[in-house]
Amino acid sequence: MSTELYLDANATSPVLPAAAAAAMAAMQDCFGNPSSSHACGLRARALLDGARARARRVLGAASGRVLFNSGATEGIQTAVLSALCAVRERRQRGEACGDLLVYGATEHKAVPESLAHWNRLLGTGLELRVLPVGADGRHRLDLLRELAPRAAFVCTMAANNETGVVSDLDGIARVLAEAHSPALWMVDCVQALGKLPLALDATRIDYAPFSGHKLYAPKGIGMLYVREGAPYTPLLCGGGQEAGQRSGTENMAGIAALDAVLQALEEGGTFRTPAQLQAGRDRLAASLQAAFPALVFNAPLAQALPTTLNFSVPGLGSKELLDLFDAAGVRVSAGSACSAAKAAPSYVLDAMGVPPERSASAVRLSFGPLADDAFIDAACERIAHCGRALRLTQTPAQTAGQAAAHLQQVESCGASGWLLFDEAGRDCVAIDPPAALAARIASDLRARGCRLLACFDTSHGAGGADTLGELLGLAPGWPAGTPLLQPVRLASGAIVDALALGADILARDGDAYLLGRARNGMLASADVRFVFGALPADAGYPGALCCHRIGEPAVSRPGTASWPDGDIDLDAGAAAAYLAAHPDALLVDVRELPEHAAGAARLHGHDARHVPLSQLAGHAAGWLRAEARPLVFVCRSGNRSARAARLLRRLGHGQAWHVAGGLALAG
Ligand code: PLP
Repeated sequence: MSTELYLDANATSPVLPAAAAAAMAAMQDCFGNPSSSHACGLRARALLDGARARARRVLGAASGRVLFNSGATEGIQTAVLSALCAVRERRQRGEACGDLLVYGATEHKAVPESLAHWNRLLGTGLELRVLPVGADGRHRLDLLRELAPRAAFVCTMAANNETGVVSDLDGIARVLAEAHSPALWMVDCVQALGKLPLALDATRIDYAPFSGHKLYAPKGIGMLYVREGAPYTPLLCGGGQEAGQRSGTENMAGIAALDAVLQALEEGGTFRTPAQLQAGRDRLAASLQAAFPALVFNAPLAQALPTTLNFSVPGLGSKELLDLFDAAGVRVSAGSACSAAKAAPSYVLDAMGVPPERSASAVRLSFGPLADDAFIDAACERIAHCGRALRLTQTPAQTAGQAAAHLQQVESCGASGWLLFDEAGRDCVAIDPPAALAARIASDLRARGCRLLACFDTSHGAGGADTLGELLGLAPGWPAGTPLLQPVRLASGAIVDALALGADILARDGDAYLLGRARNGMLASADVRFVFGALPADAGYPGALCCHRIGEPAVSRPGTASWPDGDIDLDAGAAAAYLAAHPDALLVDVRELPEHAAGAARLHGHDARHVPLSQLAGHAAGWLRAEARPLVFVCRSGNRSARAARLLRRLGHGQAWHVAGGLALAG
């Protein structure tokens, strides 16, 4: 899994070698300013003119303006500014121009944000109206028909970046024409270039923005097409470049690179044809379905770009799937890259009426038109590997060989629940299972063939024990009065009920639940390993850890305030030095099981021991006993490893560290 397979082309693409070479030549050889009148400048001017002429041919835009700019966000601003200034002027002249700014519900955020921004700034006071899309992701033409007579400006996209859904631009044009709409029309063509045929002259599109980096040119270069006769207001004024339409010395390296990409498009042979792309996408779709049998596609493939797949796997969150793919070296995303850092559900899928649980597990896989058969083969193989890795978690054997009951933390929205498995993983007790995860836990236990002995909440009504019990046909609560219970004596002399969990027992002492090993009908204080619920103030369990339902840390030592965590970060260089200086250090990979199965972690010559974050509590006591041994946690991006190191520090381990930036930066 050492090589990366980049399947996130709708976010951005690598630079075509010919484009990089052209950019380098523009910087080193043809570096003149195209506005200079000497030979150096004239050579740069020729390059610029040649690139524009080629762009016109590729876009089918012999007339109108084709301006080079910094990318689609700038192109969108310019189009919006131009349209709103025109509306203002038309209104001043008393012409009918509409009072609505209509935009598709699935537009890139640059569109509604620019509309609101410029409408406010210019004081145009138009009303923003969302044009809904149907379940297929396409604009509702029936609703557009109603809005069209009042629309001053209509913004739609050629193809959606998250789902790949291709808009019915002919249908939109027809509706606007039939309604005699006064609207100006912008079509965001960012995702269309190189994937869909373009003949802008033949349309009534007024503005069409493009971004070079979505098709193998560098970031920071783009184009804006403006139809002949469409109103235009420059966004940038200054030295009068681009015939005074977009001032600022031209980004010649970017323009040269974009020109090389356009040349490849024009001449053919470099990029796959739409039919070849579609065949590749269909093979990827089939391999996804084989790897994840429950998978559903979130947009109809027949109406999507031949390079994009958006899917969900019921029961698995986007984050888990992304982590799984990332561990296998497959780079995909959970939607648009702009919102990847925010954990918000996809507004695009919401607009299509995709149920929230499906939208929360959506993954986008997208490739560029350079992807050849060998690339698609490799991607299909990795996808199959991810499917197998996921199945590994569902066999009881995963817990076999452990001498004691083992503990798994399940978290949702800041609340922790705890699953206790016997050593063979056949029996389970669920304590405080979060309600949001009840269905997932139930299906996992069923798939593992694991029996739920009991499920209960330590605080009345606070968790999802009722839901989980209902799903698995088990009465929730402590199983009082059932043959599963046996009496056990505590150190206090009290005789309490205990539930056998393999060779261990879970004993109930008032509102506390004690997990440990009983000997001769007696649970000694020293043999209690974990405590759940409310620990009596006077209880002394020297070796135990308390597992909490809410709060950080989720695990603490009874009777001790937590230790400060201090500095826990080792950047990639510091981690290498630390591991070299501490050959006894234990490197711990805290990624979850499927990710680990998709690709084992090795760092600076150290093989990592695998302990998923959700199972850390079970291992913490042992690490605390061997406190002299340094711990270095690692995960994919550094978030989970930081939590692990912080937890161990707070429990009193003085030498717990983590690799900041994770495996992603550690190389
Ligand atoms: N429009 C669409 C459909 C996009 O996918 C993107 C980028 O993700 C943009 C606009 C904005 O492009 P840029 O960030 O290159 O300006």
